Amino acid sequence: MSGKRTFTMIKPDATAANNIGAITKMIEEAGFVIKASKMTRLTPERAGEFYAVHKERPFYKDLCEYMSSGPIVAMVLEKDNAVADFRTLIGATNPADAAEGTIRKLYAKSIEANAVHGSDADETAAEEAKFFFSALELY
Ligand code: UDP
Ligand code: MG
Repeated sequence: MSGKRTFTMIKPDATAANNIGAITKMIEEAGFVIKASKMTRLTPERAGEFYAVHKERPFYKDLCEYMSSGPIVAMVLEKDNAVADFRTLIGATNPADAAEGTIRKLYAKSIEANAVHGSDADETAAEEAKFFFSALELY
């Protein structure tokens, strides 16, 4: 049974390009309800903690620098089949491979600066939400 929540970040390239509103509108129009939202900034250390699963990958250090290069918007989203449906809405990691009409196809700059994060499973979605929001905010 698939869960009802996922976690996303609007990444620094998209906040810098003034695309917070356009991306949020696509998310809402796709049927996701915003349950929590916060504009904030990550230090390289905190970005490293968030992406710890990738710490052996060659892109890890650059990714942590990029993710701390400007503000991000963290959001918890609710919808039936949230994790999978949100991955469909955002498209492939590399915007060159992303389907037409997806958020990454429309707004990503590169495989690294790819506009948005989307959780990969229900368990990670819950952990990622807790990384940014208190229990009280995750009603
Ligand atoms: N990333 C990168 N180079 C790569 C693969 C990934 O810079 O070759 C970055 C990109 O910002 C991506 C993030 O690392 O969104 C996490 O990678 P993952 O494979 O989990 O992709 P996602 O789940 O975000 O599609
Ligand atoms: Mg991932």
